[in-house]
Amino acid sequence: MIVVCPSCRSKYSVQPEAIGESKMVRCALCSTMWRQTAISESIDKKDHVQHIIKWAFFWFSVLAFVFSLFFTRNVVLKVWPQSACFYDFIGVKLPDTKKTFIIKNMGTQFKRRDGKLYMRLSGELINCSSDVQIMPSLIITLKNEDSQSNEASKEPYKKVWTHDLMYNKLLPDQNVAFETEEQSVPCSNLMCDIKLDVL
Ligand SMILES: [Zn+2]
Repeated sequence: MIVVCPSCRSKYSVQPEAIGESKMVRCALCSTMWRQTAISESIDKKDHVQHIIKWAFFWFSVLAFVFSLFFTRNVVLKVWPQSACFYDFIGVKLPDTKKTFIIKNMGTQFKRRDGKLYMRLSGELINCSSDVQIMPSLIITLKNEDSQSNEASKEPYKKVWTHDLMYNKLLPDQNVAFETEEQSVPCSNLMCDIKLDVL
């Protein structure tokens, strides 16, 4: 049986016969004396089982935490970009956003209304990775074509706006069509660039 000093918690392995019903004992470490009574085997075992359960629960919690960080890495990275260092440290490969999305079938539609020119931009965004991705925002830049300056658009022109897509997530190989709101533009001879607001 295991006898524990009530003062310093030192543990001693003692033959039950040495204690009998009860006996005065002294701790070899702190000299505390107390009356030790016989401990039934079952209480000893119960303590042991409780101890194992406590540790199992602790390690289960640690593992659950690490797994949840792994499976929610896209969200964690978006909220807290510095966590990239942590993922790198534990050897988790992060998605290469340049290879994650592609934009296809980009087109522009122009409309003239009350003497003003308006433009809409449309296309398809495709998740070409094998993971579910958080939907990025589209950052759209319109600029003058800087080739042989067209008389009508001689002045430098630049317009940037963000377009949010209505879904939150994009499944592997899923594509989603987008069409931006109308934007007033000075001419139809513009250069358009789309960047994705992802990590
Ligand atoms: Zn002691």
